Amino acid sequence: AVPQLKKIANLTGEQISDIGSQDMNDTVWLKLGNRVNQLLAKPDVDGIVITHGTDTYEETAYFLNLVVDSDKPVVIVASMRPATSISADGPMNLFMGVVVAINKEAIGRGVLCVINDDIHYAAEITKTMTVNPATMKSPNRGLAGKVDDEIVRFFSPTIKRHTSKSEFRIDETVSSLPHVDIIYAHSNMKRSLIDASVKSGAKGIVIAGVGDGNMSNEAIDALSEHASKGIVIVRSSRVGSGAVKRNIEVNDDKLGFVAAMELNPQKARILLQLGLRETTNVEDIQRMFMEY
Ligand code: ASP
Repeated sequence: AVPQLKKIANLTGEQISDIGSQDMNDTVWLKLGNRVNQLLAKPDVDGIVITHGTDTYEETAYFLNLVVDSDKPVVIVASMRPATSISADGPMNLFMGVVVAINKEAIGRGVLCVINDDIHYAAEITKTMTVNPATMKSPNRGLAGKVDDEIVRFFSPTIKRHTSKSEFRIDETVSSLPHVDIIYAHSNMKRSLIDASVKSGAKGIVIAGVGDGNMSNEAIDALSEHASKGIVIVRSSRVGSGAVKRNIEVNDDKLGFVAAMELNPQKARILLQLGLRETTNVEDIQRMFMEY
């Protein structure tokens, strides 16, 4: 569908998985991360472009941003309109993804998401609208850049740790990641789902808190009980942007919680999964949330 690609890059393709991204899971992430690392280690590979569904696009991008051990460009593209629709956006997004991946300025920026003429950093991007092609936004720190046909303009760099500077590493011996759940806060929030999560084996819980990462007293009491027994509790927010910082509305020091900073719940879950492979120490995990 995109013969123009032949003029700009030597491409080879392979399929890692053929699921809808609503079915994305740790097994596919580990397979994908390992394959990306194998390919990027080859001197004749300059970069990788991955096609993905939009539902969990930001999550796969962020996972790879933490486990890819290379400065070479890794670009993820997606599309909102099906190939059969009027004005499908997939072909142009794929073309622009390759344009970005072959651009020397893409080196060392971590995993990049290219969609709808925009370039996003993996740590920043989030899906904000159900069906609109302009769904992807980077609400906290803005776009990484823009791509107009074959012209790439990068804006400011990212200050977050990623890829070759990350401390998180995977290899073929890793077959699963720790169980971390997300629980959504709301008015009249009870402790039942929190207790059920721990009972089902969760080693960590991310709260999609109200406002600045807050929740009912009943939920706080339940979470602090579990925190005192070694379950790591991370407070993020359901509002979609902004940072949840330590000890503002909730006394993290006293309760033993971690503040998610700028990570939304779905990305906080991934960082906590990888962090829990290294430690259950709350100070260490808080440091990770400051850096990534
Ligand atoms: N549910 C689909 C997916 O994320 C939607 C899309 O392709 O954008 O795989």
